[in-house]
Amino acid sequence: MAPVSKQYDYLVIGGGSGGLASARRASAMYGAKVGIIESGRLGGTCVNVGCVPKKVSWYAAAIAETLTEAKGYGFDIDVKGFDWPTFKTKRDKYIERLNGIYERNLKNDKVDYIAGHGRFVSRNEVEVTHNNGEKSTYGADKILIATGGYPSVPTDIPGAEYGITSDGFFELDQQPKKVVLVGAGYIAVELAGIFRALASETHLMIRHDNFLRSFDPMVQEVIGKRYEEDMGMKIHRRSKQTKIEKDESTGKLRVHYEDSNGTGVLEDVDTLLWAIGRRPNTGDLALDKVGIGRNEKGHVIADDFQNTSVPNIFSLGDVSGKVELTPVAIAAGRRLSDRLFGGPKFAQAKLDYTNIPSVVFGHPEIGAIGLTQPEAVAKYGQDSLKIYKTTFTAMYYSMLDHKGPTAYKLICHGPEEKVVGLHTIGLGSAEMLQGFGVAVKMGATKQDFDNCVAIHPTSAEELVTLK
Ligand SMILES: Cc1cc2nc3c(=O)[nH]c(=O)nc-3n(C[C@H](O)[C@H](O)[C@H](O)COP(=O)(O)OP(=O)(O)OC[C@H]3O[C@@H](n4cnc5c(N)ncnc54)[C@H](O)[C@@H]3O)c2cc1C
Repeated sequence: MAPVSKQYDYLVIGGGSGGLASARRASAMYGAKVGIIESGRLGGTCVNVGCVPKKVSWYAAAIAETLTEAKGYGFDIDVKGFDWPTFKTKRDKYIERLNGIYERNLKNDKVDYIAGHGRFVSRNEVEVTHNNGEKSTYGADKILIATGGYPSVPTDIPGAEYGITSDGFFELDQQPKKVVLVGAGYIAVELAGIFRALASETHLMIRHDNFLRSFDPMVQEVIGKRYEEDMGMKIHRRSKQTKIEKDESTGKLRVHYEDSNGTGVLEDVDTLLWAIGRRPNTGDLALDKVGIGRNEKGHVIADDFQNTSVPNIFSLGDVSGKVELTPVAIAAGRRLSDRLFGGPKFAQAKLDYTNIPSVVFGHPEIGAIGLTQPEAVAKYGQDSLKIYKTTFTAMYYSMLDHKGPTAYKLICHGPEEKVVGLHTIGLGSAEMLQGFGVAVKMGATKQDFDNCVAIHPTSAEELVTLK
């Protein structure tokens, strides 16, 4: 082990959403001496292979839909196609710019950026293997594990290695003509929507009958119908993949599968994408050496205050596996630094993990906060709930032959009808949810919603006029 080259108040392992937020808050606001270790590109999953390039791709897909619909509004346009390589080059440049901005932000906030891979050598020392192979050791009073996660690939399907994951999605130089996605979570649904809206033949293979199974049943039903019947996606229900073969001369894949219709083979597949879940990034951290507790899925166990089982070692974000979203990691990181370095005023600072709004950038978008209907029934019982629902056609579609769906649901509890769940699917749902999220977080009732004068003409006004 190399001798300790520098001593910090706070050493953060992982320069992603949570790590950066926590490191910058500790240094810039409280003057702590902070170092942050990052083995890949600054910004982590969200900036490099997650939210940001995904949302830019979603915009491209949304523009493709708008261009198709423009004719309905009288535009005489003929779209020749989509130039994926040009789009990808521009998207990559945008991400590179962001990487640079993140590095400058660290400098401005006086956080030392340590490029390399970190692993524990003791409870307050971390050894870093730099990109040139050299090693240094850093000491710290407090250490944060914010190392995120990585996408899983099945280990029991012959040929699974021919598939890519969401990371590989962002490396595709050409648009696949025919693509198979496996998975039923939001990442599978978002990427499938992007491919299909950009006119790839898209197959979505799911293990059960529906996808987005943690969302309200209304949302599952509407998005399932929309993807299959309107967008022409091929949904393979109750499916599993039995073998993947690659034609070495063409590079095309053959996907053998079973689904609710029997067995089948998909030929000439350009891309197979596994979106079957993510695992915590703990492999090379030597956590066992310092006795840091993990759960059965490998997540670093953290309490409500982000404390691990070892004093002065903390964990948050995807590696701790609570709610795997960027703003959650950021908020937890900032609260933790407030608590550790902000003095007595912040002695009890912690993130409240209830009522976190979440969206799916599908086609159309989905927004949800609070309990689903089955969760609310399980918690409160059917009799104390009142459910308000509406489905309608948004005005945008008035000029179009082809209509898109909109469906909203409010789940209210008790005599005061407190809103305990809000679920939306339809155009603009993501932007809409942020404001409604404030109301739900504040404990708004149905009456509070009704007391807010509607904004007309919008889709969102339906949420304050539900009967
Ligand atoms: C395709 C996709 C789309 C997504 N879309 C959204 C979205 O729209 N909205 C949203 O809120 N969330 C989204 N997410 C989730 C979001 O990206 C994560 O929740 C978030 O990035 C978690 O932040 P984190 O700080 O915990 O980890 P990360 O951002 O993953 O950062 C961890 C960092 O630690 C580094 N690291 C790991 N081990 C070591 C080590 N030993 N030494 C040094 N460095 C190390 C990694 O290189 C990485 O940079 C998406 C994720 C994916 C995959």
